[in-house]
Amino acid sequence: MALVNEHFLKLSDKYLFAEVAKRVNAFKVAHPQAQLIDLGSSDVFQSLCPAVIEAMHKAVDQMALPEAYDDNGAEQGYNFLREAIVRNEYLPRGVHIEPSEIFINDGEKSDIANIQELVGLDNTIAVTDPAFPVYLDSNVMVGRACTVSGSPCSDVQYIRCTRENGFKPQLPSAPVDIIYLCNPNNPTGSLLTRDELRKWVNYALKNDALIFYDAAYEPYIQDADVPHTIYEIKGARHVAVEFRSYTRTAGLMSVRCGYTVVPMALTAAMTATKDRIGMNRLWLRRQNTKSNGTSYVSQRAAEVLYSEEGRRQVKEKIDYYMANARIMRERLLAAGHRLTGGDNVPFLWLATPEGTSSWDYFRHILYNAHVVCTPGIGFGPSGEGYVRLVAFASREDCEAAVESILRS
Ligand code: PLP
Repeated sequence: MALVNEHFLKLSDKYLFAEVAKRVNAFKVAHPQAQLIDLGSSDVFQSLCPAVIEAMHKAVDQMALPEAYDDNGAEQGYNFLREAIVRNEYLPRGVHIEPSEIFINDGEKSDIANIQELVGLDNTIAVTDPAFPVYLDSNVMVGRACTVSGSPCSDVQYIRCTRENGFKPQLPSAPVDIIYLCNPNNPTGSLLTRDELRKWVNYALKNDALIFYDAAYEPYIQDADVPHTIYEIKGARHVAVEFRSYTRTAGLMSVRCGYTVVPMALTAAMTATKDRIGMNRLWLRRQNTKSNGTSYVSQRAAEVLYSEEGRRQVKEKIDYYMANARIMRERLLAAGHRLTGGDNVPFLWLATPEGTSSWDYFRHILYNAHVVCTPGIGFGPSGEGYVRLVAFASREDCEAAVESILRS
């Protein structure tokens, strides 16, 4: 008899973004004339940068010439991209990372979900709350978290990020083995400065814990005291895996590319002997078996982002989205709304009116303002009472959406 993996049954059968899409579709069926503005999806609205389009065309042409085309990219990614990442992302920040420590992926979600395969099932986990749902769900699926059904999960340490603590994660109250951090934070927009992140790295060093560090929104950082990589912090290479993405900066949503850094110095202990095992070797082994890597064309698209033209074009996009976010932020604040974000991230974390749940406010905005947002509760229990509005739309749509919300 084939037995099902019952851990899946502990997940809510409503994946946040699928549930939002379902409710939006129901609205569209009932109101076919309504013009909706989508500030829920984190898909960027602008098309690919010209430099990316050119690089991709060139890559396709290269693939037609076997002698000119190097297909040794395999599961870890092509050298040209891993070397470009070292040169452009890490060296300028005084961080020494080797290409062999970098793994190219199809966007960081897959690796964030898969990385937990490297650690034992008995590890305890801590997730910031609210958080990108993948951190917790991927642990539930393998039976490490929420081993008893229930929400919130009794065997997970939720690091509550609320208005009272300025949405800043506080160090775990009980010992924990694995910590998921996101900086700048999605969905609250809160930031960990270098000094604040240092406390987490020191905690992990002292408690022999691992940090899975999600820096998906790193390109949007504006404040000088916010680190662009966790490896700016001394000792981090012994405790942290870092995840980075190109999908929300250069419009590579459908091209799909990102990367994960697993330092050679990162180790975890064997249960019985306490011998230390290198995580890089295990991750390489895992990828060799389970990953097909990322297409050559996608990796050439990512590489060109480090050219002078690529940088300029990406900066234009980031500036555009950040200006959207600033305009929305200022207008909503001036009208008396409570919110965070919009200054170092391209989205706002907006408090719902007193006593209104996040799904109710989602519905209110959808039906009365014709604007799609994301209900905060979908990011975790502490997301109740908030919705997220992203700035990945045209200037006109962002402005119109805010005015419409204010009138609703
Ligand atoms: N991490 C965070 C915080 C995100 O918001 C997202 C996407 O929404 C991801 C990771 C996934 O990024 P990618 O498109 O690279 O898979």
